Amino acid sequence: MNKWNMIIDVAECTNCNLCTLATMDEYIGNDFPGYSAPMPKHGHKWIEILQKERGQLPLIDIAYVPTMCNHCDNAPCVAKGGGAIKKRDDGIVLIDPVKAKGRKDLVDACPYGHIWWNEELQLPQAWTFDAHLIDQGWKQTRGQQSCPTGAMRAVCVDDAEMTKLARDQGLEVVKPELATKPRVYYKNLWRYSKCFIAGSVSMEANGAVDCVEGASMRLFKGGAMVAQTATDNYGDFKFDRLDENSGEYVVEISAPGRAKKTIATKLGVSINLGEIRL
Ligand code: SF4
Ligand code: SF4
Repeated sequence: MNKWNMIIDVAECTNCNLCTLATMDEYIGNDFPGYSAPMPKHGHKWIEILQKERGQLPLIDIAYVPTMCNHCDNAPCVAKGGGAIKKRDDGIVLIDPVKAKGRKDLVDACPYGHIWWNEELQLPQAWTFDAHLIDQGWKQTRGQQSCPTGAMRAVCVDDAEMTKLARDQGLEVVKPELATKPRVYYKNLWRYSKCFIAGSVSMEANGAVDCVEGASMRLFKGGAMVAQTATDNYGDFKFDRLDENSGEYVVEISAPGRAKKTIATKLGVSINLGEIRL
């Protein structure tokens, strides 16, 4: 049976927040019996854009990650709900706006923080995958419809096809270690979850300092080479997709006519080693 999944490309999200606004437009003040009660005007972020700045000037980048209820297959909220939260056959998880009344305890059941408490209605709420629209034949969500970059895409395929898509496109889920089996997948999540070692290589010749293009850069960890690259025409280099707090590294720089140089560094978060003069 085909089930709904969301694929989000972190590299395409510009933080315009149109998906967030479209979702607020859909739900604030609107009651969809059997699906959701109205979202409050303030305080809830059923779609929330996370952001992370990596590195230090001038070598920095920023990644934006739209997050929402993951419609997990192995959802702790469903387990705790005792019938107040249901998993539909098409993969969508719905908090019952009647049965869940007064169940503030369900807010803490989501390990991702995607259940919001509606104080006025005394109701836990989360993004419904726009199930009321899906059931009317919609093939996309309001957030996807409003996204100008195509960063967000709902797909309805069987689980085997989704597993293949995830493998072929290198998709990841958030916090896989929780084993909740999210149905929201991310492309290029490493731009948010991983870090880099970067820098800029220069040399002095004939009294002038110039950047070094094409310097050979090698990265070592524990004596073994783990990555290699070359400087660009600004002399910049970047070793990316490294784990946070992954410890000590050595950067080796080689350029024709210059002595080889090595720099030891310890990686906590992304680091710009600055200008390295050969
Ligand atoms: S993300 Fe949270 S609220 Fe959504 S299904 Fe998973 S556990 Fe439940
Ligand atoms: S509408 Fe698209 S680009 Fe804008 S914040 Fe949402 S996912 Fe990102």
